[in-house]
Amino acid sequence: MMLDVSSLFSGLATSIPFSFSMRLSATSEFSDSESDYPVLAQVMPLTFSDVVFHEPVQVNGTVVSEGGYVLLTEDAAVTYETGCARCLAPIRGSLALHVEKAVAEDHGETELVDKENDDYIQAKGGILDLGEPLMEELMQEFPSRVLCREDCAGICPGCGVNLNLAVCSCKKALDPRFAVLSSLLETMPDDEEGTEA
Ligand SMILES: [Zn+2]
Ligand SMILES: [Zn+2]
Repeated sequence: MMLDVSSLFSGLATSIPFSFSMRLSATSEFSDSESDYPVLAQVMPLTFSDVVFHEPVQVNGTVVSEGGYVLLTEDAAVTYETGCARCLAPIRGSLALHVEKAVAEDHGETELVDKENDDYIQAKGGILDLGEPLMEELMQEFPSRVLCREDCAGICPGCGVNLNLAVCSCKKALDPRFAVLSSLLETMPDDEEGTEA
């Protein structure tokens, strides 16, 4: 979604509210469902290879001019499907994204703003790309590992059984080093007060 915010810089407007939906694909492309851009020019390198975004993301926000500054605010809820990092069970999750960025007008001739400065985004020729800051936020906020539950027992490396659902039959064939560990655990006293670091 490209938004013309030049009226904020010229003082003709003080606030531009917006609302749009954006489709995220499992590959590294995303497109704007409400415009003629099948794929936006800036393809964000999404690194979630095993994550699927089924539903378009609904984005609401405003760009306001306040005391000489132009500020972008965006809110979006992203729903996704992925597999548990331990047991591969399907997970449906959601993530709320919130973006607040100062906007600098870029006329294309000179670099007005340091591109390395994350606090600013550039509106090239007064046109603001509303998708890009959201994608950056998504990549920052998306969990690197998603578990079906905190204490997911995972999959037995020996027989492949899902240890959340079944007791593994090859337990006795554990690595002898683990057998030593488990015998140690069995002989440990129950009271936690006696343990020392
Ligand atoms: Zn799991
Ligand atoms: Zn097993």
